[in-house]
Amino acid sequence: MEFRQKELTQAIAAVRQAAIFCHQIRKEKRIRSMTKADGSPVTNADLGSQALIVQKLREMYASDPVMAEETADYSDFLDAAFSGELMDDLQKAGGVFLSVNDIVESINRGLSESTEPGPSWRDRYWVIDPIDGTKGYLKSGQYAIALGLIEKGQVTVAALACPEFSVPCMADTGLVLFAVRGGGAYTTPLFRAAAAEPLKVSNRSGTDLLKMCESLNHSPTGTSAKVADALNVPDSQIDKMDSQAKYAAVACGVADIYLRLPTSSTYREAIWDHAAGALIVEEAGGKVSNIYGKSLAWNDDRSWQDNHRFPRPDGIVVTNAVIHDMVIEAIRTVLQGSGENA
Ligand code: AMP
Ligand code: MG
Repeated sequence: MEFRQKELTQAIAAVRQAAIFCHQIRKEKRIRSMTKADGSPVTNADLGSQALIVQKLREMYASDPVMAEETADYSDFLDAAFSGELMDDLQKAGGVFLSVNDIVESINRGLSESTEPGPSWRDRYWVIDPIDGTKGYLKSGQYAIALGLIEKGQVTVAALACPEFSVPCMADTGLVLFAVRGGGAYTTPLFRAAAAEPLKVSNRSGTDLLKMCESLNHSPTGTSAKVADALNVPDSQIDKMDSQAKYAAVACGVADIYLRLPTSSTYREAIWDHAAGALIVEEAGGKVSNIYGKSLAWNDDRSWQDNHRFPRPDGIVVTNAVIHDMVIEAIRTVLQGSGENA
């Protein structure tokens, strides 16, 4: 498995370091949280995690553009009272930051919508979600640290750390899942060194009792319930959780479907909420598409600014592949019945 092996090793190291940092802050009950302009929460751990991952990538790939969720605009944590504490935490995690400015600079090297990195990003760029599921992180739920490499419109490398997640084939809670395109998907414990185990989606078909997962906070519950009904999935088989841990659930065969229907006619899914998870599921044998069964457009002819989100509010459907067409058909029928375009 030669392809992108160096990138994979560095990506795993980056999410592992950032996840241990986030886990430690939560364990010590030192999360500091504030609300962003869009109403979503951001914490000292989101910002620190992004600084660590960006720094790790720069060790080897200084010229690669990096698309990342956070900016240092939300930097109340970085002023007098908290900056010392954050610097200590980052140092303990193995980050090398000489000053608060150094931290800010690293966070902002993860380029937000406002900064165009030049045309080379179409060939290759990294995507970071420093804490996916910040709401879960704040409430002892699931969360994930997600890193993907996108090359010429395809995710080629993925690393996903899920500090609160476990799979049947391993005793550990806290896993890193990873994949390179064409090389399969694997998982390894987050908090100790151990051999990686291959990931494989379930083989349940339409005649089996299916298991589904969906977002805890971002799901149009009425429509989702109708789709579940159409697929004969009872409530007891639906797991609601935060973050890309839902991709992990499908990749390891615990769930057969991750359903993410559009929450509104305007919300476009962010690239960082899906890049890592999507490759891991595909390499574990699953399938990922929008609700119309079309593959996801990681980048096309849109600008960098626009490309932070998928072109349309078309939701995301993730399955074990066997039942994909059936799920897409069920969604089509339900949306048609409720008068929406399908
Ligand atoms: P989840 O934990 O699956 O709900 O995913 C968390 C992600 O949902 C966050 O990182 C946000 O980027 C994203 N998000 C925020 N608002 C919405 C929305 N209205 N619809 C769908 N996803 C959203
Ligand atoms: Mg996210």
